[in-house]
Amino acid sequence: MFAASLLSILLILHAHTEMDEYEKLRRLMVEEQIIKRGIKDREVIRAMLKVPREKFVPPQERGSAYGDFPLPIGYGQTISQPYIVAYMTEQLEVKKGDRVLEIGTGSGYQSAILAEIGCEVYTVELIEELSKRAQRIIKELGYKNVHFKIGDGYQGWKEYAPYDAIIVTAAPPRIPEKLKYQMKIGGRMVIPVGDYYQYLYKIARTGKDSWKKERLIGVSFVPMVRGN
Ligand code: SAH
Repeated sequence: MFAASLLSILLILHAHTEMDEYEKLRRLMVEEQIIKRGIKDREVIRAMLKVPREKFVPPQERGSAYGDFPLPIGYGQTISQPYIVAYMTEQLEVKKGDRVLEIGTGSGYQSAILAEIGCEVYTVELIEELSKRAQRIIKELGYKNVHFKIGDGYQGWKEYAPYDAIIVTAAPPRIPEKLKYQMKIGGRMVIPVGDYYQYLYKIARTGKDSWKKERLIGVSFVPMVRGN
């Protein structure tokens, strides 16, 4: 009896020190990788300080969850580097209540960051197992504003279009036409484009059939594969 309660106390203590450890790592990550490199959007910084990134990586990678690099999440896919998540989110220029389409749910980390900011997130993933895992984690964290679809991101998610912003987290060879038309006029899309050499682009929809394209930085994403 005594041994059992002692054990549970130890387990609770252990859980607490572990929690504090991740929180410290998270703060350090935000200071060193996010703020020092020029991210200014307060809501992006707040969300990056809040969302427990370690929950979105496989158990064997938890110790590296706050490292300055992408990590494998299984099925040949990756969770993006923290800075890239912050940079893309800042470029999206979203605010609470915005409707956002994400292509490539992956781990669900980017979706959680957008949900923390207060966006209504519609996220599409090709690999069922990844989507299911992300759904479970996001539910555990209590976010109610993320909606999941298993399917081909080249089709977007027409039922909820048009979107204030679209974020694509896998790289297609060129900008998918359908996505261009699922943005609101005045809306934005942030998307990596290319195969070996990729650049991040920001596309603003300026009219019914007009867009303005701006090249941002060089990046390295997994390819956006053709659904069927
Ligand atoms: N935003 C993710 C990054 C995921 S990596 C995160 O925060 O973890 C890119 C994801 O895009 C992978 O999970 C991959 O399976 C998915 N993907 C690739 N091609 C796709 C397509 N055509 N439609 C939907 N998802 C796709």
